[in-house]
Amino acid sequence: MSKRQFVAPGLARLSVLLAALWAANGLADEKQLLQAIEAQSGAIKQVSQQIFEFKELGQQEFKSSQLVVDELRKLGFKVETDLKVPDDLVKGGVAKTAFRAELPGKGPGPTVTIMLEYDALPNGHSCGHNLISGSGLLAAAGLSKVMKDLPGRLLVIGTPDEERGSLGGGKIALLEGKHFEGSDVVLITHPGSTWSVNKPLLAMKRATFVFKGKAAHAAAAPEQGINALDAAIQTFNGINALRQHLRQDVRIHGIIKKGGDVVNVVPALAEVEFAARALDTPTMLDAYAKLINTAKAAALASGTTMEYKPPRTELLSPVMVPEYLELVAKNIQQAGVPADDVVMDPQPLGSSDLGNVGHAYPTVNIMFKVAPKTVALHEDAMLKYTVPDEGWPAAVQAAKAVALSAHDLLIDPERTKRIVGKFQELKATEGK
Ligand SMILES: [Zn+2]
Repeated sequence: MSKRQFVAPGLARLSVLLAALWAANGLADEKQLLQAIEAQSGAIKQVSQQIFEFKELGQQEFKSSQLVVDELRKLGFKVETDLKVPDDLVKGGVAKTAFRAELPGKGPGPTVTIMLEYDALPNGHSCGHNLISGSGLLAAAGLSKVMKDLPGRLLVIGTPDEERGSLGGGKIALLEGKHFEGSDVVLITHPGSTWSVNKPLLAMKRATFVFKGKAAHAAAAPEQGINALDAAIQTFNGINALRQHLRQDVRIHGIIKKGGDVVNVVPALAEVEFAARALDTPTMLDAYAKLINTAKAAALASGTTMEYKPPRTELLSPVMVPEYLELVAKNIQQAGVPADDVVMDPQPLGSSDLGNVGHAYPTVNIMFKVAPKTVALHEDAMLKYTVPDEGWPAAVQAAKAVALSAHDLLIDPERTKRIVGKFQELKATEGK
């Protein structure tokens, strides 16, 4: 027997032993983790209740973010506030109501980031962001009790101003300000009417076109006019003709914002606004390019001029890694949710700045069930389910799923590396 052959079985035995030790440690940690979550659940439910009552709109979530920051400091996190973001994206509160909290483990390892949202809508927390911050904070509270035994580090990023989408987008400002840098993987939760991990988000970009023509009497001298409204209508007609040749998930939808003032004057000015969306970012950008061409063609055909200024931000769609989705789905079941209740949900949630994070880092959004399917997010009726007295038990299960997943990702750096590698590979072939 050569030396090499002799050593190998010994190494194999050693690695089996180490794996068993890891597993035993892992299980002990998990038990401790779940107990720590149970123990802190009551206190953090109160935080979620207060955020529900504050119902602060995007960029004004001063009290909500301060409350969460105070809790994270009590848990031992080092918290940075007043984050620097690009000047043209500061827009009021984003820099003031965002935060970045860090808790190191026992040594080098992966960085797991948990995102929290806490902005409301005009009718209150009908999107349940008080339960997003509540469940994410509870997961962080549980993990804070075991981090000293885990490699790597935990980041908790407060991402305000989600609801105004591409008009606001706290996460875009934070990504551009490099506050996610160092993250390997990201987790977030969102209440809804099903448990799922793969709810798609559509990539989305808006466009406003202003057509300028020439006013003239609509009956006495129409031949002297150039009709800007015709250009707007031509744009709609061009897009409608295109639909047959676009992939089924592509959405292009628009409104006419200005189309003339009085019926007896040829409209000299028309303004339309469109959004193009698709399940993946390259397909959305391709549809968007067609939209621009259609508007240019309409201007040419009508003899108007067309002004178009690209928007400052666009929403991207997340690149999902099956292994990561499966890991989180398994942990949702471990948190006590029956396997049959965890569904693959192909119905897009719309578009969100969450997609921009999911396009930059492997991200899983745990949708958790607080309401029946007949009630939609943003409806007044949803407020009955996002109030913690009703929604908290599911939020606790979501917190457990986040914490167990973060734990799995921290103790197994190889798996985390594999998820990051697969993410890069899928992103390189996105939309193909
Ligand atoms: Zn929401």
